[in-house]
Amino acid sequence: MATLFTKIINGEIPCYKVAENEEFFAFLDINPKAKGHTLVIPKREVDYLFDMEDDELARMMAFAKKIAAAIRKAFPCPKVGIAVLGLEVPHAHIHLIPLESEATFYVKEGVQLNGKEFEEVAAAIKKYL
Ligand code: AMP
Repeated sequence: MATLFTKIINGEIPCYKVAENEEFFAFLDINPKAKGHTLVIPKREVDYLFDMEDDELARMMAFAKKIAAAIRKAFPCPKVGIAVLGLEVPHAHIHLIPLESEATFYVKEGVQLNGKEFEEVAAAIKKYL
């Protein structure tokens, strides 16, 4: 059965898309820790990030790097942090989170955005891609 994220890639479940190429896809996390919180995923279904082949993982990181640069331009912050948890959705994903401080990562309740605001966040990042 397709994972939730495969359904997002296929357009069966809506998302706020940021970017894609042949292998990878980036979209806004629906429960953002901060404005610009983005998930980067491989289109190929793989659960555990470190089950990916070295070269595939390297390409995913290069893709994430471009997205992170655009996030940082759209939402200036000291650094865009990356996190890999993956216990909730069994489809490998990298969180890219604009960090004002370490506290940004640990807040339980992140920012609340409505649909229009999510669209504006995605558009702001895309402007720099
Ligand atoms: P984890 O597997 O622990 O890295 O968490 C999965 C992440 O996916 C969480 O941050 C969720 O907010 C996010 N998420 C779950 N469903 C969706 C969705 N439909 N669209 C965007 N993000 C999602």
